[in-house]
Amino acid sequence: MEDAEQYLFKIVIIGDSAVGKSNLLSRYARNEFNLHSKATIGVEFQTQSMEIDGKEVKSQIWDTAGQERFRAVTSAYYRGAVGALVVYDISRRTTFDSVPRWLQELNTHSDTAVAKMLVGNKCDLEDIRDISVDEGKSLAEAEGLFFIETSALDCTNVKKAFEIVIREIYSNIS
Ligand code: GDP
Ligand code: MG
Repeated sequence: MEDAEQYLFKIVIIGDSAVGKSNLLSRYARNEFNLHSKATIGVEFQTQSMEIDGKEVKSQIWDTAGQERFRAVTSAYYRGAVGALVVYDISRRTTFDSVPRWLQELNTHSDTAVAKMLVGNKCDLEDIRDISVDEGKSLAEAEGLFFIETSALDCTNVKKAFEIVIREIYSNIS
């Protein structure tokens, strides 16, 4: 008996503290949102499956356990990653200004091509928006990333953000 083809992609979520990384993952993997989420201790990744071309594609999506607070995300976190969501908070400019530094860190630690999505999270906070959609788009274009705005709170584009990255990884290898 022949095994069906198996795909397992490692995807990392990076970005400054409190931009919503953990909530994007919990929204995508379990459809859960937490208003007062603390740094997740112990949970390293969630595995999520989707079907592409009739094949089961599994993604192991890694979330920092709060190490980003101390700029102490380790190389083990990045090792083997083929996809990345680089997240900022559309209501906090400092988190947008940090994006190039996160991309630099990602590049330093990755030895293969990585499918990257720039994610402007908390788009439900339109009233206190600090980064325009155009600014997000421009940065993504300049850096060669996909771009999307999401809200882990109201679910906007969360599934789409992950699935675009997963499809890109898949198309890169097939
Ligand atoms: P992390 O440190 O990047 O993992 O961020 P968390 O997921 O822990 O979220 C930090 C805070 O932002 C929490 O209070 C969340 O409830 C809140 N948050 C996360 N995503 C959203 C969102 O899409 N909209 C709004 N309004 N708040 C969010
Ligand atoms: Mg977190």
